Amino acid sequence: MDRHLIELPRKILVGYNVIRELGSFIKDLGFGKEVLIISGEKVKSLIEKDVKESLSSFGLSYLWHHIDSATMSFVGQVVDLAKKHQSKILVGLGGGKSIDVAKLSAYYANLPFISVPTSASHDGISSPFASIKGMDKPYSLIAKPPIGVLADIIIIANAPRRLLASGCGDLVAKITAVKDWELARDEKGEYFGNYAASLARLSAKLVIDESEKIREGSKESVRDVVEALISAGVAACIAGSSRPCSGSEHLFSHALDMLAPNIGLHGEKCGIGAIMMAKLHNLEWEKIANSLKNVHAVVNAYELGINPELIVDAILLAPKIRPERYTILHKLNLDRESAKNLAESVNVI
Ligand SMILES: [Zn+2]
Repeated sequence: MDRHLIELPRKILVGYNVIRELGSFIKDLGFGKEVLIISGEKVKSLIEKDVKESLSSFGLSYLWHHIDSATMSFVGQVVDLAKKHQSKILVGLGGGKSIDVAKLSAYYANLPFISVPTSASHDGISSPFASIKGMDKPYSLIAKPPIGVLADIIIIANAPRRLLASGCGDLVAKITAVKDWELARDEKGEYFGNYAASLARLSAKLVIDESEKIREGSKESVRDVVEALISAGVAACIAGSSRPCSGSEHLFSHALDMLAPNIGLHGEKCGIGAIMMAKLHNLEWEKIANSLKNVHAVVNAYELGINPELIVDAILLAPKIRPERYTILHKLNLDRESAKNLAESVNVI
C-alpha cells in the first residue's frame, strides 16, 4: 500500500454535563438546521429534555427516530427518513446499536454523523466501522468516522458498570490485535502503521495500568476509559483499517456471535479472546486476565454464560470467518485438542 487516506473526527468534546452543549456543538459544525437523531427508547426518555432544550436554543429542528437493533432494515429506514426530511446531519445517541445504525446510515446517505455515546462499552464511538447484524459477513463494515464526538461523562458514568467493563475488554484486545498486525507485516508483507499501532497499544495500556482505579468507577477513571476508546477508534482512522483494533481476539468474538447469538457483550468476548490469543503470542496473558478481573469483567465461559464446548468451537471457526485477515490463528491452524488445551491453560474453560 503506497498511500492511504486518513479521515478523522473534526471535533471531540468530552466532559461533565456536555449533553447540554449538543446544540452549540452541532451549530458550530455548520451543516444546517435539520437534525435526525437515532436512539433507543430508553435513552430518549432519559435525556430528551436536555437535548430538546439545547437544540431549540440554537434554532435547530430535529426528528427523533427509535431503533431497537442494529440491522440493515433500520439503516434503510433511517436513510429514507433522512432523504424525506432533508436532514443535514445525523446524531447517533446511545450505546452500540444507535451509533452503528446512525454511522452506516450517514455513510449511505452521504451525510455527516455525530456520535453521542451513553456508555463506554466499545471503540465504535469514534471508529470508521459499524457492526450490523444479519449480514453474511459477521465482522464490521467500513463506513466513515464521525465528524464529531460528544461524550458526557456524567451520563456514561451512570450507565451499568458491566458496560464499562466491556469497554475495558475491547481495549485490552488491542494488545493482541497489534501483535496479529505485526505478524501479518512480518509474514505476509502487509502494510503496518507504527503510529496507529502505538496509539492502539497505549489505549490498552491504560486498562492494564489503571484497572484498580477503574474498578472504583470514579468519574475520572470513566473519563480515562472513554478517552482511550475514542483514541483506539482514531487509531483505526489513522491506519485506514481496523487492524490496530481488531485481530484474532475479535475474530473469536465474531465466531461466538455466530455460534451463540445474543450471549455476552462485544467487549466481554473480545477480552476473553485477548487472554487466549495473548497466550498464543507468548505474551503475559495473566496480566490481561488480572486487569479484566480487577474491573469486574468476565474472564471465563462460566461467567459469560456459555457452554465451554462453544468456546472451543469459536476458536476453530474464528480464522475461517476472515481467511484474508492473517492472524496467529491462521498461522497455527489449531486442531480441536489444541484449541481445548489453550482455553483450559488460561482458565477460560
Ligand atoms: Zn471491538
